[in-house]
Amino acid sequence: MKILKVVHTASFLLITPVIFGQRVVIPWPQVTDSSDLVDTHSRPIEYQEKKTWSFPEPGVYISNEFTGARVNEVTELNDSTFSLTIRPENFPINMSPWYAFKIWSRSPGDIYIKLRYEHGRHRYYPKTSKNGKNWTPVRQTDYFSTSKDTTAFFRLHTGTDTLWVSAQELMTSEWLAKWVRMLAEKPWIRDTVFGYSTLGKPLRAMKIGSENAPNMLIILSRQHPPEITGFKEMNAFVETLNGDSRLARKFRKNFYVVVAPMMNPDGVDNGHWRHNAGGIDLNRDWRWFNQPETFAFRAFVLGEREKHHSTVRYGIDFHSTQVDLFYMPADKDLPSGKGITRPWITKINKKFPDHPFSPEPSGLTGQISKNWILHELHAEAITYEVGDNTDREVIRKRGETSAKLLMKILLKEKY
Ligand SMILES: [Zn+2]
Repeated sequence: MKILKVVHTASFLLITPVIFGQRVVIPWPQVTDSSDLVDTHSRPIEYQEKKTWSFPEPGVYISNEFTGARVNEVTELNDSTFSLTIRPENFPINMSPWYAFKIWSRSPGDIYIKLRYEHGRHRYYPKTSKNGKNWTPVRQTDYFSTSKDTTAFFRLHTGTDTLWVSAQELMTSEWLAKWVRMLAEKPWIRDTVFGYSTLGKPLRAMKIGSENAPNMLIILSRQHPPEITGFKEMNAFVETLNGDSRLARKFRKNFYVVVAPMMNPDGVDNGHWRHNAGGIDLNRDWRWFNQPETFAFRAFVLGEREKHHSTVRYGIDFHSTQVDLFYMPADKDLPSGKGITRPWITKINKKFPDHPFSPEPSGLTGQISKNWILHELHAEAITYEVGDNTDREVIRKRGETSAKLLMKILLKEKY
């Protein structure tokens, strides 16, 4: 059964001018590529029905009744093979089909799972967990599909204990709240809520370092729900900024850091492939700010900048894609005519020659966070893309190293 819920954007739009005043007007370069002009007014999304599918004979149970799950339908093909339909929240949509479910069986045995994607192609290699926290990729000998397919086929070893299966590690808004609480035990970090998502979830930010510092650094993550590897590298990066090293202490005296670690909590918790609950790719809404998540973050950053009379020096938006790369402005497009991204990337790559980032200069007209930071805040910014399959240990170490290197570079700059 499909449950179609139309988000009541009409009422939001009607009251927008009253609450928020004038429409956002930011100087933005002439758009020549029409793919950069995206309508970001809300569109309906489809919610999955939350349920546990029970197959008493042969005694197999599959459930999406948990936060971050995604399975739309389950059918039994034979007593050991089950087909799971995975649909996006709406479409057209980026090819990043997220799935997550729990499975258990009355007696121990092998179960074959066929994922059948609608409007998508396979991207994420399945991982399993016994507790929803520690994840292991399905053994290669249990995996039978080729990538880029509209289906994925693999074998699980099930029993009475619940087995979690997910596209990537499950890291929901609950996980985030715990992480932020843990970090905010340090006196130099304040946990704050800068707004509410479409479905009313708190949008969290951390304010790190001296709010009276003359310089600001902006960090964003998780506009796109399945992009866990970028989120993990952001975790290591932010923890390093918060460290006890002399470098980190000096940095926090000179820089006020604003971190929005999960821009799209509705999408994350509802197992979306890409969009927020307004059915929109948030990383196309940084020109018009039609969605509450982007609107609230912009207002928050502008307010902090004004209140503390500081200047934004750099912005980083963490994402994931097939490979490790930085989307960065071309040097000629930077306000100062020269950037710090190139020297930074060179230094990171020297330390991680087997896992280098490739520098990809990208245009100024896409309606993405990087370009908003450039056009409205007049600061250099990048999209920090981590490969879907990059080794998790490399991600942690590289996140720590890239944070140290960036702190050194930013402290040496003469402002
Ligand atoms: Zn992304």
